[in-house]
Amino acid sequence: MLTGGVGGARFLRGVVEAVDPASVTAIVNVGDDLEVLGLYVSPDLDSVLYALAGLADEERGWGRAEESWNALAAADEFGGESWFKLGDRDLGLHLVRTQRLRAGEPLSRVTARLTAAVGLESTILPASDEPLRTWLETPNGGYSFQQWFVARSHRDPVDRVRFEGAADARPAPGVLDALHEADAILIAPSNPYVSIGPILAVERIRRALERRRVPCVAVSPLIGGRAVKGPAADMLQRLEGGTSPAHVTQCYAGLIDALVFDEADAEHVEAVAGLGVRPVVTRTLMSDADARRRLVEAVLDAMAVA
Ligand code: GDP
Ligand code: CA
Repeated sequence: MLTGGVGGARFLRGVVEAVDPASVTAIVNVGDDLEVLGLYVSPDLDSVLYALAGLADEERGWGRAEESWNALAAADEFGGESWFKLGDRDLGLHLVRTQRLRAGEPLSRVTARLTAAVGLESTILPASDEPLRTWLETPNGGYSFQQWFVARSHRDPVDRVRFEGAADARPAPGVLDALHEADAILIAPSNPYVSIGPILAVERIRRALERRRVPCVAVSPLIGGRAVKGPAADMLQRLEGGTSPAHVTQCYAGLIDALVFDEADAEHVEAVAGLGVRPVVTRTLMSDADARRRLVEAVLDAMAVA
């Protein structure tokens, strides 16, 4: 599965509840990664890790459950940066990761260690071990992903998304093997531009999808033309000219065989089919474990016949 952070992780959790977790590989966006207080933070890798390990705070929607904020408050008192929220428990992970990266381990190996430490059977891979950073061009200037998303609350309309370093970034070890050996490829209901886009910006990953011999099924992050959360609908409207399932399909032109989207958008079945992609209509809001399970079942059915 190609996935971003919170939305993707929610779906991924449903998948590992439905199939053998050891058979699942998540290829995760690293375009959001940043350094805060000297620590390497990889928000989407962390969301996936926390969700699968049952450590995520589901109410807040990001970070760890039972979190406290003492270290960040102290950093702020001493004049340190505090705009990017890192809880005490969360910081523990960033300390370990940063130390290992400084010792020369690639991000993929560090991630494998962290995954093993919490006892996960699934494989979690960064899309690339090499720097690949998302930048947004807006009428108000260019911003790094987290400047735009967190510091400016994604209020600037986006004219263009670019991925610094993508041209030279190689897939992390294991990514191409996972894609070549997969029985099916899934694209999570993540933001197509800033979560899946950076993964597909790695040329050899995109090519592996273009040349796939197995079905690739995407789940739309939009319901009734609106994002469940975040800037996906605004971005689609401005960059693709609309927020229907057909517009989501266009983001993945040549890469997917089926698009799973919500009943609220059922009227767009023919528009999606007209783009050569099989429409699969079901309820896609993952409001609880049951809803998650039903969505995953629909996706697995779609894979079987795609
Ligand atoms: P991020 O990296 O943490 O921003 O997370 P993702 O990019 O993986 O996910 C964000 C997307 O998830 C948003 O566009 C939401 O609309 C979508 N999303 C969140 N919850 C749900 C849900 O229950 N169903 C669907 N279909 N999409 C969801
Ligand atoms: Ca993200």
